[in-house]
Amino acid sequence: MTSKNVVVSDAKSSLAIGVHASNSSIFTASAQKPPAVPGGYLSISKAKVLKNLEINGNARINAWVDSMKASSPTHIKSTPSLADEQNSWMLGLPSALDMFEHIIEASRGKQIVMFMDYDGTLSPIVDDPDRAFMSKKMRATVRKLAKCFPTAIVSGRCLDKVYNFVRLAELYYAGSHGMDIKGPEKGSKNNKSTEAVVFQPASEFLPMIDEVYRELVEKIKSTPGAKVENNKFCVSVHFRCVEEKKWSELAHVVKSVLKEYPKLRLSQGRKVLEIRPTIKWDKGKALEFLLESLGFANCTDVFPVYIGDDRTDEDAFKVLRERGQGFGILVSKTPKDTSAFYSLQEPTEVMGFLQRLVESFYMANQECKKVLL
Ligand SMILES: [Mg+2]
Repeated sequence: MTSKNVVVSDAKSSLAIGVHASNSSIFTASAQKPPAVPGGYLSISKAKVLKNLEINGNARINAWVDSMKASSPTHIKSTPSLADEQNSWMLGLPSALDMFEHIIEASRGKQIVMFMDYDGTLSPIVDDPDRAFMSKKMRATVRKLAKCFPTAIVSGRCLDKVYNFVRLAELYYAGSHGMDIKGPEKGSKNNKSTEAVVFQPASEFLPMIDEVYRELVEKIKSTPGAKVENNKFCVSVHFRCVEEKKWSELAHVVKSVLKEYPKLRLSQGRKVLEIRPTIKWDKGKALEFLLESLGFANCTDVFPVYIGDDRTDEDAFKVLRERGQGFGILVSKTPKDTSAFYSLQEPTEVMGFLQRLVESFYMANQECKKVLL
């Protein structure tokens, strides 16, 4: 396996990462230049385009809307049948807090690496996506966590936005679903390198994404409450403040704009439709890239933990299952199909879990010191 350093300076940003990438299946692009087909890109046949765009008609739109409604907290009802469903789901996906000792036991002797989504994981889902702030207590907890373990935030938001919410320079960040990766400030504890690096596998799509964003801003004006967010490598159409009876109509508007862009695809999240480049890159690929960057590509003694609440986080959960290393934790109050191993109900439980991880790290270190003395 050949390896190469990927180095791109970013004068605008105070962030930097020392990235060491190799020619593996997960990394086929240089930082400056996306790979030519067949590198990291899908070859686009007509049938595949339709499949990737997921715009095969009203059935698909109805499925999106139904799925968004199902994941909306306002639709949780405390009926006996739902309670039964919840109980059986929890048996299959136990609480990471209840299983904490078991988790620590499984990670013993291995390097824990933490990956966390932002919205709905570290911060609550709020109506205005620009006000999805994390609490001071959560920030302090994540800061302590990063002192114990390499820690990365993996978000659908653009990198600058998620960094402005979190504001911790010592972390790794993967914005736009991992399509925009940067690491700790150079010279910091987590990056002794003097190199400033950005990894952007979809940079050639930037003008197209910008064009779609501007078009959508115009088109959604007729839908009260609809909001379009430019996340640099993806565009998010937020349904959070749109009346539910208007959701289908809004989804049709988004679909009609996307018809003209076969190189972009649409996916659905919690009260959001997201438009992304049709490349083989997702949060799971970002997780693998970061593990490789940290030097854990072929290690058997690494224990990655990924915490997330959305469908896009499933790609990372699947990667961990396939690697047979670490595990995913789904943040959800309601039953969902998932590849995660454990669950936490909401960001406050995530904070409790992170705090216990920090405590156990220091307790284990004290025990080590006693043994050495
Ligand atoms: Mg999320």
